[in-house]
Amino acid sequence: MLKIDMHTHIIPKHLPDWTKKFGYGNFIHLDHHKPGFARMMQGEKFFREIESNCWDAEERIEEYSKYHTQVQVVCTIPVLFAYWAKPSDGLEVSRYLNDDVIALVKKYPKNYVGLGTLPMQDIELAVQELERIKKEGIVGIQIGSNINGKNLNEPFLYPLWKALEALDMCVLVHPWEMMGEDQMKKYWLPWLVGMPAETTRAICSLIFGGIFEKFPKVRFNFAHAGGSFIPTIGRIEHGFNCRPDLVAIDNDITPRAYIGKFWVDSATHDPELLHYILKHQGSKKVSLGTDYPFPLGDLEIGKFIEEMGLSEEVVEDLFCNSALEWLNMKKEFFL
Ligand SMILES: [Zn+2]
Repeated sequence: MLKIDMHTHIIPKHLPDWTKKFGYGNFIHLDHHKPGFARMMQGEKFFREIESNCWDAEERIEEYSKYHTQVQVVCTIPVLFAYWAKPSDGLEVSRYLNDDVIALVKKYPKNYVGLGTLPMQDIELAVQELERIKKEGIVGIQIGSNINGKNLNEPFLYPLWKALEALDMCVLVHPWEMMGEDQMKKYWLPWLVGMPAETTRAICSLIFGGIFEKFPKVRFNFAHAGGSFIPTIGRIEHGFNCRPDLVAIDNDITPRAYIGKFWVDSATHDPELLHYILKHQGSKKVSLGTDYPFPLGDLEIGKFIEEMGLSEEVVEDLFCNSALEWLNMKKEFFL
């Protein structure tokens, strides 16, 4: 059975010293301090240590083969988004990261599918870069759950949604710059509490802002099974019903109606929760996604799914059909 992991991160082995080049900011650079490892540095501040499977294409293919997984959909690590930079610098960073992914996909078309990154601080430049990467074989993009604190319903983003429809490209919404981060530095809370909340914020903003109505052809996928959106849909819907004056001001369709209209990945780390997500979303809208190669990811690449006692049809939807539809690619392409 074809297995596609649609949520994985990759980084070029070497990054320019953009802080030095641009003369400001804390752009990420890599310090290859020992063989097989690198320190991600945010300016002078240590961010995290990564291993060679973060950049080594062949090592990744080999590691995936242990879990009978042929295809990785790759995108950058959200800390590299640089939406806060000057627009032209943000474009330069995006182009550098995208060119790395473009080269990878061209070299290993049966193992890698690429998602681009865009300078979201300037929507005109973002659309320009989107058009460029489409021509180079990139099928979609990854964007943050908020754009410098602005929510995804904001009208300044309309040209992007329009362009994604016109170019027939998909989008993965990934949590980043987690709300409340400054108040919860201890216990890894931004990752454990902030990330599911960020994704929920993104989905609710898109629903209540009527974006799925205005741009029905954009194929959205949300990381980490959509965060806490589906598990808390009862509360969200009740809020919509009891206080329409607050919630239903831009879109009068109940939020529950959107479940199953977009995709979510399978990264729940919990079979019971995945059963619940599948019940709501349907298997055509849940795609294997692991967050590889990071420790909070499902690093056995969907092994827990195989042990859930699901029918072969459902497993096949999770492992490839759902992702293929989201990417708008054919299974035959990978055979
Ligand atoms: Zn991720």
